[in-house]
Amino acid sequence: MDYYDVIVIGAGISGLLSALALAKEGKSVLILEKEDYIGGVCRSYEIDGYRLDTGPHAITRLENGPFKELMDEYFDVVPRFVPFGKYYVRIQEDIKPFPWNINAWLKFSLIPKTDRLLIMKSLFNTLYVLNTGKDSATTPISDILPSNISETSRNFINWLCYFTVGTSIENTPISRFIDNKTNKRDSFSYIGQFYDLLISEGATDQGYPKGGLQSIINAIVTSFPKDKVKLKTGEEVVKIEHSDKIENVVTSQNIYECDTIIYSGFASDLPNMVDLPFEHTEHLNSIKKINSLTIWLGLTKKIFENHGSEMWVNTNPFAWVVPTSNYDPSLAPNGNQLVSFAFTLPDEYDVDEMRKRAFNTIVEMHPEIENYIDMVHYQELIPEKAAWSINSGFGDVKTPIKNLYCVGTDTEKRSAGVSRAAYSVLRCLDTMRSDGNL
Ligand SMILES: Cc1cc2nc3c(=O)[nH]c(=O)nc-3n(C[C@H](O)[C@H](O)[C@H](O)COP(=O)(O)OP(=O)(O)OC[C@H]3O[C@@H](n4cnc5c(N)ncnc54)[C@H](O)[C@@H]3O)c2cc1C
Repeated sequence: MDYYDVIVIGAGISGLLSALALAKEGKSVLILEKEDYIGGVCRSYEIDGYRLDTGPHAITRLENGPFKELMDEYFDVVPRFVPFGKYYVRIQEDIKPFPWNINAWLKFSLIPKTDRLLIMKSLFNTLYVLNTGKDSATTPISDILPSNISETSRNFINWLCYFTVGTSIENTPISRFIDNKTNKRDSFSYIGQFYDLLISEGATDQGYPKGGLQSIINAIVTSFPKDKVKLKTGEEVVKIEHSDKIENVVTSQNIYECDTIIYSGFASDLPNMVDLPFEHTEHLNSIKKINSLTIWLGLTKKIFENHGSEMWVNTNPFAWVVPTSNYDPSLAPNGNQLVSFAFTLPDEYDVDEMRKRAFNTIVEMHPEIENYIDMVHYQELIPEKAAWSINSGFGDVKTPIKNLYCVGTDTEKRSAGVSRAAYSVLRCLDTMRSDGNL
């Protein structure tokens, strides 16, 4: 039987980052991936000469966030990032840069002036809520919003909730916005956040990886130390065997012996592979995933001129529009434009119906676009394995079984997407260290 210090289950970005870090720390690592490709929902592939990603991606906190920390520490080859540019808010034909600070908010004419003042007031109410000790994790955004604002203003806030948390203002806790940059729930982080509101110039540390998302995955794999990492695709893990500690990993083809397991699939699927105490499985069952639909269009005419993305706030469904070929023209053939339109999806939906509605939304916003379509491609994907919403549970890096750890976007609350995945890996490494396993 083959023996490895660590077996990583899943070759998404969380699993690959874990494998890289542990191999660089001297461990022998086997990665087992059930699909015949790696990268999970962070990769690229070709359709009709266009290089598409798994959904539009802005890689956040590139100056001093968790992903940067892992790149600095473990990458031999670092992907090149193009600045992500501005976020533009579009309401019908009107388009304006996102108002990042209070000064810009007061001048943000897409929202009625009275609403801007009312929403400002509710921001200060938020400070009050926090100072009176009200629980920011169970207070929804809708509770602190004035009830008499216009539908457009409510949609604007709702858009932010859907695209950062994956759920509505009624289900988004205010903690999601105030705990974004730090894990410390103390007053300093709140003050920091409000200071940001006063002076922020916007998300200046976000980027798009040149060559597409795949260039991040390629950089990780190229950085694996020789002879320390083995990667097997098309091999699904079906069982984890243990006594008082981890023993074997059973796949459809093989049995492997190891000392430690890092599991990076859905935490809610873990009970199908291993016996866990009821308190733990009950908690995992309450995790709520986020669903999304992305439509990719290849266009023979450049319709989206701005270097940046657009937030479509009063469409149904809401959309986030990212013209990726504006960051890297080589992603589209013949000087064409490649654009992704991401839509949030309800818990229950009919795929064909949602695809039709989403496509019609694009055409309603840009009626001329139909004349220039060269390629259409649809993706239904799960961007976050757990929504940080009021009624949703979360997994944890540490499990009740010795030497079995979890990573991924359902094991860590901080930030979102790739940054959240990176936070989970850093937390897993810290936990392994404090357990004496590293
Ligand atoms: C539409 C969309 C837009 C997004 N936008 C952004 C963005 O703007 N910014 C950002 O930072 N992030 C964004 N993300 C999110 C980001 O891509 C994900 O959060 C991140 O890639 C998740 O990585 P992961 O490794 O945790 O999970 P996954 O990518 O899901 O990887 C898990 C892997 O484990 C494998 N696996 C599961 N079970 C088993 C098993 N039993 N045996 C073997 N293998 C198994 C799966 O096949 C998969 O490859 C977006 C995602 C989508 C879909």
